[in-house]
Formats: sequence, C-alpha cells, structure tokens
Amino acid sequence: MKPRPADRLPGARSSAVAVTCVLIIGENETVSHEIGHDRLDNLRDRLREFVAERDWAQFHNPKNLAMALIAEAGELVEHFQWLTPGQAERLSPEALIEVEHELADVLIFLIELADRLDVDLLAAAERKLQLNAEKYPVEKARGRATKYNKL
Ligand SMILES: [Mg+2]
Repeated sequence: MKPRPADRLPGARSSAVAVTCVLIIGENETVSHEIGHDRLDNLRDRLREFVAERDWAQFHNPKNLAMALIAEAGELVEHFQWLTPGQAERLSPEALIEVEHELADVLIFLIELADRLDVDLLAAAERKLQLNAEKYPVEKARGRATKYNKL
C-alpha cells in the first residue's frame, strides 16, 4: 500500500506500535485516540499473504471484493432475520459464534477492499466520524433517529 500523507491524520501511521492521533471535533476541541493501526496493518499483511499463497489476487478486484463484502453482510443479517429486537439481544452462545464468523468475514473483505483501493481504513473512518458529527450536532440529534437533512 502506497502511503498518501495528505490523507492521514497527524501521527496516524505506524507499522509497529499503536499510536495516538488527534481528532479535531470542534473549533477548539480535540480528542486523542489510541488507534490500533498495528493490528489492522498486521491483519492486512496476513490477508495479503493468504491471498498470494492461493493466487487469488486475480479474483480479488474491487468489484468482486465489494460484492463479497455485501454477500457476507447478508450472511450476517440472516442470523437476525425474523427475530424480535429482544431475541436479537439474547443470541445463544452457538448463534453468537456464527455471528462472530460473519462479522469476521465482513471485516476481512472490508480490509481487502480498502487495501486494493489504497484507502487507509482507520483514517477514513475518523474523517467520516467527524463529518457525521457535523451532520448530526448533539443539540439537534440527541435522542432522535431522524436523517440529518430533516433535523
Ligand atoms: Mg460468511
């Protein structure tokens, strides 16, 4: 993955250790975050190895990875389909293990897709969280499940 310094938050990259990055919330507010870039990078590297060993890169283009991601998200949703909200909160240990597997599948394809597109997933998520904070200011959005353009 080629580094794209302009897209990165200050201090947000490290291949060896978790680092602190600063997220600017408001004009004068900042929040420090410990981000496990090392774990995500490590998992991405292991996925690269896994794919290379099997010569699967030829199949893992962004289109196929995006489709696989949604297919796995569908498998995840199947575990909750037709349950009441209360039942969904109290999955059996066996069902929870199956859900865990589907969550892992979703994460794996998400990491692979981001890798193929050269997107720093954690930095992108930090940026999106900031955008969401602007779209949904606490004073307007608190306790409301209303889309930002209707607040
Ligand atoms: Mg699956």
